[in-house]
Amino acid sequence: MKIKIYPMHCALRCGAKTRLGHPCKSPAIHGKERCRMHGGKSTGRPSTPSSIFRKGYLIERREWRKQLKDMKTMLLELNKIQLKRN
Ligand SMILES: [Zn+2]
Repeated sequence: MKIKIYPMHCALRCGAKTRLGHPCKSPAIHGKERCRMHGGKSTGRPSTPSSIFRKGYLIERREWRKQLKDMKTMLLELNKIQLKRN
């Protein structure tokens, strides 16, 4: 049986300590000493003009929703006050 060796097999092994206490041993990311799981926090997807636009849109929508919610609670309280008067 012939075993094919991929470049990944020759890669440096991750030395991060696992929860069981031994080294991870997964292939390290190219140019780094840790694997994809232990390489640190992801920097996220690359920002493109459309993703920047979408982010802005989502932030704006969140603010609008918060304002609407505040208005709703304010109206409900006003209604309660008026009901007490009558
Ligand atoms: Zn690892």
